[in-house]
Amino acid sequence: RKGVVVITGASSGLGLAAAKALAETEKWHVVMACRDFLKAEKAAQSAGMAKENYSIMHLDLASLDSVRQFVHAFRQSGRPLDVLVCNAAIYRPTARTPTYTADGYEMSVGVNHLGHFLLANMLLEDLKKSDYPSRRLIILGSITGNTNTLAGNVPPKAGLGDLRGLAGGLDGRNSSAMIDGGAFDGAKAYKDSKICNMLTMQELHRRFHEDTGITFASLYPGCIATTGLFREHIPLFRLLFPPFQKFITKGFVSEDESGQRLAQVVGDPSLLKSGVYWSWNNNSASFENQLSEEASDAVKAQKLWEISEKLVGLA
Ligand code: NDP
Repeated sequence: RKGVVVITGASSGLGLAAAKALAETEKWHVVMACRDFLKAEKAAQSAGMAKENYSIMHLDLASLDSVRQFVHAFRQSGRPLDVLVCNAAIYRPTARTPTYTADGYEMSVGVNHLGHFLLANMLLEDLKKSDYPSRRLIILGSITGNTNTLAGNVPPKAGLGDLRGLAGGLDGRNSSAMIDGGAFDGAKAYKDSKICNMLTMQELHRRFHEDTGITFASLYPGCIATTGLFREHIPLFRLLFPPFQKFITKGFVSEDESGQRLAQVVGDPSLLKSGVYWSWNNNSASFENQLSEEASDAVKAQKLWEISEKLVGLA
């Protein structure tokens, strides 16, 4: 049978490119988990995806109710779950004030981390039940959360501190809207959420890999400077960022190429190892990359897990 892969945020950018790459192999049925059904349908059609290779299901990660409803609807569909890709994200680099999810959590961490944290925990049960030979749970990471890289040292730097803001509810009223308890910074909130994504992947690996055989992985697909992720940035940045990445940092990767990379992490037998943060070199060969000290801190990962469980209602 075909493998079934759920990809969140498959209506644009990397998620769409990976959905297209996987659908084209005819070996995968892609469930596009998206907040805007019409946008996703149009995107799938203009990518030339054949109808039998995908379906679209509603998921708004800014609402934990929506996450629970998605899981329910997915189970009702009767499809098995073989691979989950937590890909959706928002980035609000120019935001001066925080916005909040339906549950009252700062939006970047609420969507990128907490929504996916609940989704991954719930769908773990479905992955366990699958009879597919290689089951995987993938969470997108990023270089920007890794302070051991040049890009990761561009201010504001990521940093979760002692997680006091998150523990306080990340609501901007009783507690700070930032994980470390500091003043709101939209760019930092995104970077912090990416550290959470990478810590969560490793904590999943430590907790569940041995017993379940599921592969847990994260990746940095390269700098895809053309995606909608930068839609809220100032116009001059949007104009100069792609050529800067192409000619100066040479980290630029096209949406097609990044989609192929994510598709490898989904299905390639050579990328089966669990607990790995994959990256690609200039010849587009994959390698196991090192995470920064904070993004591989096992004590912090456990603390993050326990606080997150409370915030999403699992504990
Ligand atoms: P895009 O903005 O193009 O895509 C993000 C997707 O997330 C969109 O489909 C968007 O939906 C969806 N999304 C946003 N908010 C929600 C929500 N509340 N509920 C459900 N879906 C939502 O960005 P990219 O493709 O660039 O980013 C994809 C992933 O890759 C992210 O995890 C990002 O951190 C990571 N990444 C990207 C890099 C880059 O250079 N671009 C580099 C490193 C990592 P909609 O279409 O409705 O807006």
